[in-house]
Amino acid sequence: MKLSVIVPCYNEEKVLHLLAERLGAVFLELKADDYEIILVNDGSTDRTESIIKELSKNNGKYKAVHLSRNFGHQAALLAGLAHFTGDAAFLLDADLQDPPELIGRFIEKYNEGYEVVYGVKKARKENFFKKATYRLYYKILRMLAEIDIPLESGDFCLLSRRVVSVIISMPERNKFLRGLRSWVGFKQYALEYNRDKRRSGASKYTIRKLLKLSNDGIFGFSKVPLKVSFWLGIFICLGCFGAAIIFFILYLISDIHNKLPGYTSLILSILFFGGIQLFALGLIGGYIGRIYDTVRNRPEYIIKGKDNIV
Ligand code: UDP
Ligand code: MG
Repeated sequence: MKLSVIVPCYNEEKVLHLLAERLGAVFLELKADDYEIILVNDGSTDRTESIIKELSKNNGKYKAVHLSRNFGHQAALLAGLAHFTGDAAFLLDADLQDPPELIGRFIEKYNEGYEVVYGVKKARKENFFKKATYRLYYKILRMLAEIDIPLESGDFCLLSRRVVSVIISMPERNKFLRGLRSWVGFKQYALEYNRDKRRSGASKYTIRKLLKLSNDGIFGFSKVPLKVSFWLGIFICLGCFGAAIIFFILYLISDIHNKLPGYTSLILSILFFGGIQLFALGLIGGYIGRIYDTVRNRPEYIIKGKDNIV
């Protein structure tokens, strides 16, 4: 089989040489010669572009896609997936957090007939806060999602050509790859591994990018947030109806209404309902924004140039 390794790179000048070294060693050990490495330069502003050009000039196995600006990790992966020529694609981060030495084990599973082999993190070497928020997020996503999205699995995976064609032919925008990968079905295998620390440089996932990714996960795979506002609305209306009856009875049997100035309760209820409405609107906005993205049909990324790819 021919394997295509796809590596999204955003300002990764410090790790690219090390990555190439480790990938070279891996393929040497596997005694595999039929492979390609597609580096996707996601609008880097450091020396990443020139290092990629140099790598692809010196070694025909290296191919590159340069995007016109920073489109984000998921878009960079999609750009790579649109250009691979192998039988299977292997998605790998540039920062060597996910060890390329595992390629052999992924290929083994592929040869056993699994079309999706995804890495599941046994241990993460990251700070406590990051670990805890990731864990919480995946738990929530799993609770809400319409499909079974495995816990603790990132984009580190091997996908058969068939699975990739299905995923990239979907017209939906803001693709959440690790969700779609489960959604497509086929024979899937969870491969456990230990996740390392980033080799060098800081994480390229800013809080904003992480929020976008987590929203794509929830809005892309769950309609529960829409239903939450629906049920919350019904619940509150019933509550109000009950309260109205109670107030009416109190009005008849006591003189409580003469002692209540009514100001606090009025303000509180205005605030409360204002809040509920904004909340519901925000939820709906989340979906409408995504519908808008899909209807606009803008490309998910724009290619500026390619190396060793026609
Ligand atoms: N990345 C990218 N575009 C971005 C952000 C990240 O192509 O806008 C790449 C980055 O170069 C790396 C991978 O995506 O190869 C994962 O990013 P990072 O390691 O920063 O994320 P983390 O591991 O901290 O979640
Ligand atoms: Mg990383």
